[in-house]
Amino acid sequence: MFVPSVDKDKCIGCGECVEICPVEVWELQDEKAEPVNADECMGCESCVEACEQGAITVEEL
Ligand code: SF4
Ligand code: SF4
Repeated sequence: MFVPSVDKDKCIGCGECVEICPVEVWELQDEKAEPVNADECMGCESCVEACEQGAITVEEL
């Protein structure tokens, strides 16, 4: 399984990850990305590439 996570100190709430994730893992909450559907993550890393702040990591367990 894949575990997407965000460094909220780096996240600026741009919403790029929300837009790009094909399975709607990300939502903005209080202007920070939150992996609300983390169970759906398939490890494509589109969000990692889209985040210009380098705030997202996706770990494979
Ligand atoms: S793309 Fe990066 S900076 Fe933008 S909302 Fe997502 S985690 Fe935050
Ligand atoms: S790795 Fe892919 S599926 Fe997982 S949260 Fe990022 S964009 Fe969505």
